[in-house]
Amino acid sequence: MTNNIFYNNNFAKNIFNNYGPQDLQNDLLKMGIFTQADSAGRIYPLTFTATTILDMLLMQLQKNNVKIYVDTKVEDVKVINEQIYIYTNKESFIVSDVIFATGGLAYSMLGSNTDGYSLLSNLGVKITKLKPGLVGLKTSIDDVKGLEGIRQKANVSLLKKGKVVFSEVGEIQFKKDGISGIVVMNASSIMARQNDDLQLRVDFLSSFKSDEIIEKLTYIKKLNPSISFEDLSHGILPKALATKLCHKLKDNLTIASFVRLAKNYEIKVISDYGFANAQVTVGGVMIDEVDEHFALKKNNHIYVIGELLDVDGLCGGYNMHFAMASGVNVAMFLARKLGEESYE
Ligand SMILES: Cc1cc2nc3c(=O)[nH]c(=O)nc-3n(C[C@H](O)[C@H](O)[C@H](O)COP(=O)(O)OP(=O)(O)OC[C@H]3O[C@@H](n4cnc5c(N)ncnc54)[C@H](O)[C@@H]3O)c2cc1C
Repeated sequence: MTNNIFYNNNFAKNIFNNYGPQDLQNDLLKMGIFTQADSAGRIYPLTFTATTILDMLLMQLQKNNVKIYVDTKVEDVKVINEQIYIYTNKESFIVSDVIFATGGLAYSMLGSNTDGYSLLSNLGVKITKLKPGLVGLKTSIDDVKGLEGIRQKANVSLLKKGKVVFSEVGEIQFKKDGISGIVVMNASSIMARQNDDLQLRVDFLSSFKSDEIIEKLTYIKKLNPSISFEDLSHGILPKALATKLCHKLKDNLTIASFVRLAKNYEIKVISDYGFANAQVTVGGVMIDEVDEHFALKKNNHIYVIGELLDVDGLCGGYNMHFAMASGVNVAMFLARKLGEESYE
């Protein structure tokens, strides 16, 4: 299931193999959280409400007498004479082990920040370049003008020097100055990982072969000789989109040229919509910095999990699953290490 859906796929795959969706569902059920799959197989709480998860997790923390510090910001973490000091805006602690789980930079209005990266960087940990992932794309206005509000199922491909490096069918949502939708967000994460410019190409008629659709359109035109092809094209694509394609072709409009353009529509990407609109951070703490239990190789009492690491997945619940699976991995490991053999 994890084929090519993650950057640093091999690392993430190991985590998934050790703790897959069924394991997560079983653990959630042990805490009283019922889950169900939607028609696409994505797992949600039965209540479809995120606060269900929060409430039930808080209950477990209370049951296990875990002390929670609210409105408390970790401002510094230092290692002095092999002891770990944590300094917050309220008080300081000396701890045996510390787990960094401060997340990424996506969607800053929800409180994401650079703290984890800078605290770890101060400890000598290498961080890669950080870019927004799973985000909409700003495009040339000309390529999307008149299409705002249209949602169209299509195949989106990314090409590098003519070679397809990404191809996926999904719904494109057109905006005033760009495109969005799951398929576009997935493409954005692939683009964020590439140094070269990629070409974005859309096939609006991906469920048909060219010959097949040309044959059908020719037949329809024959039955309706008095209707212009531009008007007939509104039966196959949304009116504004079909009209735009016809107008782009101007005097060269034929059934064949229309189909060629509809199956190979190039959209020039200018940039993405930035961290403020992204769902994940591409980049993070270099994978080489941690071992298989997420402990820093340079200090095995400091752990790094979740989005803070240089692992990011495509849409489909993978980022959240990775964050939880990495958390469970460290919790189990620490419980064993600290001698809590009764932990299940
Ligand atoms: C809008 C949106 C939609 C998403 N949808 C999906 C989805 O459908 N499926 C999916 O798999 N993923 C989704 N994601 C991504 C997913 O939510 C994250 O990858 C995941 O939550 C990362 O978990 P984490 O524990 O690493 O970090 P986070 O969940 O970001 O938690 C980090 C925590 O650390 C706290 N923190 C930061 N700095 C400090 C500090 N100095 N001191 C104390 N605390 C600090 C933060 O306040 C935060 O509570 C979405 C993300 C966004 C923004």
